[in-house]
Amino acid sequence: MTDIRAILRARLDAAVGGEQVLSDPAAVEPYVSDWRGRYHGRALAVVRPGSTEQVAAVVRVCADLGVPMVPQGGNTGQCGGATPDDRGNAIVVSLARMNRVRAVDTANATLTVEAGMPLAMVQQAAAAEGLMFPLSLAAEGSCSIGGNLSTNAGGHAVLRFGNTRDLVLGIEVVLADGRIWDGLRGLRKDNTGYDLKQLFIGAEGTLGIVTAAVLKLYPAPRTRGTALAALPDVAAAIRLLSELRQTLGDRVTGFELMSAYSLALSRKHHPTLPDPCPGHPWYALLQVDDSAIDSPVPQQLERALNAALESGVVHDATIAQSGEQARALWALRENIAEAQRRDGPNIKHDISLPVSVIARFLDEAREALEAALPGVRFVTFGHLGDGNLHYNLAAPEGVSPDAFLAHTVLANRIVHDLVAAHGGSISAEHGIGQQKRDELVRYKSAVELDLMRTVKAALDPSGICNPGKIFRAGS
Ligand SMILES: Cc1cc2nc3c(=O)[nH]c(=O)nc-3n(C[C@H](O)[C@H](O)[C@H](O)COP(=O)(O)OP(=O)(O)OC[C@H]3O[C@@H](n4cnc5c(N)ncnc54)[C@H](O)[C@@H]3O)c2cc1C
Repeated sequence: MTDIRAILRARLDAAVGGEQVLSDPAAVEPYVSDWRGRYHGRALAVVRPGSTEQVAAVVRVCADLGVPMVPQGGNTGQCGGATPDDRGNAIVVSLARMNRVRAVDTANATLTVEAGMPLAMVQQAAAAEGLMFPLSLAAEGSCSIGGNLSTNAGGHAVLRFGNTRDLVLGIEVVLADGRIWDGLRGLRKDNTGYDLKQLFIGAEGTLGIVTAAVLKLYPAPRTRGTALAALPDVAAAIRLLSELRQTLGDRVTGFELMSAYSLALSRKHHPTLPDPCPGHPWYALLQVDDSAIDSPVPQQLERALNAALESGVVHDATIAQSGEQARALWALRENIAEAQRRDGPNIKHDISLPVSVIARFLDEAREALEAALPGVRFVTFGHLGDGNLHYNLAAPEGVSPDAFLAHTVLANRIVHDLVAAHGGSISAEHGIGQQKRDELVRYKSAVELDLMRTVKAALDPSGICNPGKIFRAGS
């Protein structure tokens, strides 16, 4: 052990207690690789602070010794943002022990929670007050609210409630020099200068460590309708979305597009899942919610789907008749990512486009990719209501998934160039992490990159906050 390591260890032990500083390789291992198994790094230690003051003490140690810090919540991120690099000179700061509710204000409809609380626990804490926290995604049992803020997570209800950014009123952050910024205000109106919390939301831990947040709550839905519609093509899905929104207004909470191949993959790895409308190329999973008493929303959904069946927009449909059936339909969608993981690596794209150009984009991208990568299989699904597609490419039949990954740069160029040409984004909800930092430089304007680097340099002048994420270290 070199001197610096011994000093670091002693000071971290003093900051959080020796039992919360992990350095045994077996104990460290789960924290230095990502959910997909795509990124592996090394760390001097994993530190598990239990309070904001302890996080601040850890950061002060790192600031004094120039040790990089990688904040980590549930480690479900998709871009390697929570994985240290392989230099082995960083520590991982796990927020997992900071999982308490600090305050509930039902009259103000806000919940103040610590950053390490799993999203599902946040939802439960809101439900216990008869209210709802609308952020919902397939990883909600594992991901943390701090990770959700730091990636500005999207999920299934963005169409109605917005991204995480729209659901946060205040935050508490430990800054790169160890100072604590208490921005835990529960105000819906606050025009007192720059909205600093928005800088830290979506920053992927590169500007400081989020330790707590004040979240917006909403009335809990009393009536829910869930349906699966079978569609001839993506243009029909977009038409259905538009018609449903005309009829049901903002009660349309979720609108998930799935190709037949994505659904088949989900069922292949989860064979007990239902197959309600077999034999169609595209499917949309719809959810409508109403908080009003005696809501007619289920009947309105049925009428809207009947009209779409008669006009030929929809070719078949099933409406869930119970909570259990609704959960089974959602499981079809939510298990796609896990099924892909089990099937072997894909070339993944998390893109967004104006909804109006998605059908055209898909046609053009398919043509270009089939020409460049004959036999490529498309695992296309996503939050169509938000213009967000997970446009993933699987190896042709008979080609090993690992060998197929050799075409990543070519595939990225085709997909991302087309996305840019159509005014879209190369990262809709997963962030940049280490995965897309070179793509970011390619597609952002020089002015935007300059502003981003200026913010980073101002808030983290020594570059110890999650270096190498969003931007390559030192670039
Ligand atoms: C099956 C599955 C489905 C998913 N579906 C969706 C989806 O629908 N929508 C979506 O947006 N994402 C989705 N994701 C991705 C992932 O769940 C989200 O990005 C989530 O917000 C990450 O939270 P986490 O706690 O796991 O963060 P981590 O993976 O631990 O970290 C993510 C990033 O945030 C930083 N970070 C974490 N905590 C803090 C903190 N307290 N302070 C500062 N920085 C921090 C990390 O350094 C890293 O850069 C999915 C993932 C899986 C595995």
